[in-house]
Amino acid sequence: MKALQADAQWKPREGYKPTERESRDKRASMGSDLFYHPSLKLVDIPVPEPKDDEVLLKVGGAAVCGSDTMFLGADEDDYLYYCGHCRLPVVIGHEFSGEIVRVGKNVKNFKEGDLVVAETMNWCGECAACREGLVNQCENLEEIGFTLDGGYAEYLVAKEKFCFHVGDLVSVYGSKERALEVAAMVEPTAVAYNGMFVRGGGFRPGGNVAVFGAGPIGLSATSLAKAAGAAKIITFEKEPLRMKLAKEVGADYVFNPDALYATGTSPSEKVLELTEGIGVEMAVEATHHQAETIPEIEQMVAVGGTIAQIGISPVRTPIMSTYLQKKGVNYHCSIGSSGHDIWPHVIRLIASRRIDPGKFLTKCYGLDEAIEAIEAAERLEGGKFVITPNW
Ligand SMILES: [Zn+2]
Ligand SMILES: [Zn+2]
Repeated sequence: MKALQADAQWKPREGYKPTERESRDKRASMGSDLFYHPSLKLVDIPVPEPKDDEVLLKVGGAAVCGSDTMFLGADEDDYLYYCGHCRLPVVIGHEFSGEIVRVGKNVKNFKEGDLVVAETMNWCGECAACREGLVNQCENLEEIGFTLDGGYAEYLVAKEKFCFHVGDLVSVYGSKERALEVAAMVEPTAVAYNGMFVRGGGFRPGGNVAVFGAGPIGLSATSLAKAAGAAKIITFEKEPLRMKLAKEVGADYVFNPDALYATGTSPSEKVLELTEGIGVEMAVEATHHQAETIPEIEQMVAVGGTIAQIGISPVRTPIMSTYLQKKGVNYHCSIGSSGHDIWPHVIRLIASRRIDPGKFLTKCYGLDEAIEAIEAAERLEGGKFVITPNW
């Protein structure tokens, strides 16, 4: 079968000492420390065999994530850009959906023909973090599309325990194909859901919400804020196409922060003006620019409000903790989307038409055009791009 595979040479960067787990199975906690001279190309590999507790999926859609764009090139020392957890070679693509074409002999709840999605973060259920319920913080994490072969391929295997049915989406989207294309976006929606409602503890209906960033996570957060009954939703974004999408998924106001500054107003001043000085009950941070956003969020978050930190920044963020302390603000940090029944909740929200990720699915590409799709995502040309390896 055809698959888009990332590969590189295992060669610790000068001065970096791999941990015991890294050396043992040639995995990197931070790919950029260990993988040299990376490549990303279409390869021909055998269709995987499902183990007894696994299903074989014929991939429907595999959505391109910002982290996939970090497999496109190397830094000036020829090390992998991607700074997250990975083990190479690996077929990338961690936001996917598919139709089950074979089941392992111990699989109980799924059968051939079922349409499913599967959690990316494969947690162990045995480590201290998992037993605490913090499965996204699992100490033995495997990640589909980073350490296990992922969705930019005609087929992939997933463990039954990480799969969820999405057959209900066919009646929403009118065809199996379209339902699977949109179902590939359950994962990014679940990332936003985890940050806002599980780690973040949510907000009350009637609260004001600000969202920083209108990439796929910020757009999902904006949709979820609308579905959860936010009074005013104020989204900040710099790309014009994404600003338009934010409006379409439920933002009441969308501002380009640069345009605000040009008129002598800051995002926090604007939010306080729009909320009669109250501020926002929840601020969702979904950018790579926390050094710019957090100082603004400090000023606009309401007394007793919450900051949901979802975006990942490569640089240190300045925080004036006194501002947050005086207002009794909760600063909640999250990563990942697994556990806590998050995926079934997201699937039901889509099935009941409370949210529609299809509104920001910008374009589908064939597997042969996968690199093109990832490059389009890197140029931030819209919402989400989905690769459809089988049609
Ligand atoms: Zn992702
Ligand atoms: Zn674990």
